[in-house]
Parts: sequence; C-alpha cells; structure tokens
Amino acid sequence: MSMMQIGSHISSAKGYEAMGKQALKLGASTFAFFTRNPRGGSAKAVNEADVQRFLELWKEKGYGKIVAHAPYTLNACSDKAQVRRFAREAFAEDLARMEYTPGNYYNFHPGSHVGQGEETGVRLIAELLNECLREDMTTTVLLETMAGKGSEIGRSFEELREILDCVRLSDKIGVCLDTCHVWDAGYDIVNDLESVLREFDRVVGLNRLKAVHINDSINTLGSHKDRHARIGEGQIGTEAFVRIINHPALRELPFILETPNDDAGWTKEIAMLREKYQEF
Ligand code: FE
Ligand code: FE
Ligand code: ZN
Repeated sequence: MSMMQIGSHISSAKGYEAMGKQALKLGASTFAFFTRNPRGGSAKAVNEADVQRFLELWKEKGYGKIVAHAPYTLNACSDKAQVRRFAREAFAEDLARMEYTPGNYYNFHPGSHVGQGEETGVRLIAELLNECLREDMTTTVLLETMAGKGSEIGRSFEELREILDCVRLSDKIGVCLDTCHVWDAGYDIVNDLESVLREFDRVVGLNRLKAVHINDSINTLGSHKDRHARIGEGQIGTEAFVRIINHPALRELPFILETPNDDAGWTKEIAMLREKYQEF
C-alpha cells in the first residue's frame, strides 16, 4: 500500500520544525516552502537544532520528500549580468542549505529570456546549472514546467529536454510538472492525460518526473497566462485531478498544492484529494 504524498506551500518564516508541525495540522505528508522571500533577498541562517527536530519528526511519521521552491526573482537567463549573478549566488547558497535536509527536492523556474531568444535562454540556464550542481550533493534540482507567459523558458517539454541535454551532472536534475502551467502551455491534461504523459515520456522521460504542482487554472488551454485556481474551481476541474492523482505514472510522486487558499482551504483540499485517492 502506498500513502499519498500531498501537501501545500508552507511559510518558512518560523523555521523547519514549525513547517513540519504546520504540515501535520493541514493533514499533509509533504510540503513546499520558499528558501527565502519569494521575491528575493537574503536567506535566514539555518538553526541546526531546529532542522534536527524537523528531521526527527519527519522520520517518525515516515513521510517522504519535501519540495523547496527557489525565489521567483531568480532568473538564470536575464539579460542583466547583475540579475544573473544574484541567480547564481542564491542558487548555490540554497543548495548548500538544502544539504541540512538531505535527499530532497529544490524546484526552480528555468527563467525568462527577456527577448534574447530561446537558444540563449537555454544556454544561460544550463550554464548556471553546470556551475552550481555538485557531484557530492544529495538534493535533486527540479526544472518546473512553465505556462509560457512572456518569454518564459520551459513552456514545452522540448525546451526542458534542451536544458537537460546540456547539464553535465545529469543525475542531479529532474522535472516538476505544474498542472496549471502545462494546461496553460497547451497540453490537454483534461481530455487526453494519457497522450500528454506519453509525450512527456518520449521527450523528457518519465524517470525524470519527481514532483507535481497540483493547481487548477483560471484560464483556458493554451492561454499562456499562469493564474492558479483552487482545485475544482478552474478550467481543469475535479474529475481531471482525480485521474491525475491516481495515474500510475504520477500517483507515487509528491503532490504540492499552490492554490489560492488559507489554511482551512488547504486542509479541505488535502482531505478531498486523499478521499479520491485509490489505496491499493
Ligand atoms: Fe513555481
Ligand atoms: Fe508551480
Ligand atoms: Zn504558476
């Protein structure tokens, strides 16, 4: 029997143990958190005793991997050298912090090429990865599938593949599939989930898929907007999510809610999705 791994984003303001306890309160068995203010800035120092208490709690519960999220402002392929420098520094620093919680995931938005073109964007993202990934790290870095808003890289599985092809330490990198983003990017996970996953497998490889951001979308298929909705309140709809969470290729992965919600809303969504998850 497999336990469903599901959770939401949790504030990291009060440290690791507080995040773990908050996750339990929501009925979560995984969670996401921003490694620093989502809009950038510096990260707080890690309190080792606090991390230790979290790790013990997680082990005691037998819960799975957690999925850290890099700040939104981190843009590996900006046209400004200063922004690219912040991206490299924050990325490297975050990866060092991630080693306090060994063996988890660090998810990031590949970046926006801001008019420099897709090829330059892919090259700059791969450069950051090749500079920051280390042989001895235990974290797996995840490229997030993007909606294709503006000049975002990662709007197609092919773009992710191009990045993967350039990364030397290939076993340190995977992909996080965001349901709102792929829908907005034009992948019809409502009417043809099977084909989308087959396409993902052909281009990227399902073995690369490590986590799922589970969000409904306010907008229509292919809108390239990236506006999340609560589960069942958007264009994707509850039925499609029931198929997604139970799909053999996805059901063992951590599902992270990034829906516009408060604690009560997340508690309800987590319970509702657990209810629809088929235990074998
Ligand atoms: Fe994201
Ligand atoms: Fe996401
Ligand atoms: Zn989004």
